[in-house]
Amino acid sequence: MIRVENLHKSFGSNEVLKGINLEVNRGEVVAIVGPSGSGKSTLLRCLNLLETPDYGTITIDESQVTLGSKTHRKDIASLRSKTAMVFQHYNLFRNRTALRNVQDPIVLRGVAKKDEARIIAQDLLRRVGITAETEAQYPVTLSGGQSQRVSIARALAINPAAILLDEPTSALDPELVGEVLSVIRQLASEHTTMLIVTHEMSFAADVADRVIFMDEGQIVEQGPAYDVIHNPRMNRTKQFLGRSLEKSRLKEVPEPERHVG
Ligand code: ADP
Ligand code: MG
Repeated sequence: MIRVENLHKSFGSNEVLKGINLEVNRGEVVAIVGPSGSGKSTLLRCLNLLETPDYGTITIDESQVTLGSKTHRKDIASLRSKTAMVFQHYNLFRNRTALRNVQDPIVLRGVAKKDEARIIAQDLLRRVGITAETEAQYPVTLSGGQSQRVSIARALAINPAAILLDEPTSALDPELVGEVLSVIRQLASEHTTMLIVTHEMSFAADVADRVIFMDEGQIVEQGPAYDVIHNPRMNRTKQFLGRSLEKSRLKEVPEPERHVG
């Protein structure tokens, strides 16, 4: 249902995506891993047309856009409406309550009118563990974990064909990572189509159906999540995963006790 063909994107002389070919089936959860600067965010942003690719074709359900040729504004709007992004830094509207952050897009997209939209939004917020009390709060008073869960509810609100999550837990304090991962895990078990850029390798191995390893603007290796992470074939994947593993081992070393006073 998502098909990306020969996608290219450069920033000036920096060729960031060098011909990406990718298919994602309905209900599939795909984790994208790879070193910083390999083009993971650019790929997600191109899928949502937050960045305009130089050429290539993106098809999501019945919406198709071929870049480089004459593209119609209507096709671009249609393709853009097929996916919803979840960013590392949430991007919630600061002047709206958690509830309004989810309710407003529903009205804006014409999915439902105001009162019905509120009920849909409240339902989604409960699904991500946001209570009636919390939904009345403004983003500045929410924890990072709450903010990210509101962002996920907002992404679900427009009923997209796929949700694109770009390092959804990277900005969170370690103790808040779990609550966001468990919401994503729940969505995965309900077969929500998701592309997730993540550094959480054990999460990727556990939750994703497929893992894609990207390096220098190309897909180097992909396959069933467990196989790619625990038994990679390509040297570049082995090197990258070796380093990530070292890092996560380091993380497991307990912090020295701090004495207060
Ligand atoms: P990743 O998400 O894998 O870390 P990115 O897609 O963010 O990688 O970036 C890939 C490359 O594209 C980097 O070299 C980055 O500096 C460059 N890049 C990303 N966005 C822009 C932009 N808006 N303008 C110029 N260069 C960019
Ligand atoms: Mg990135």
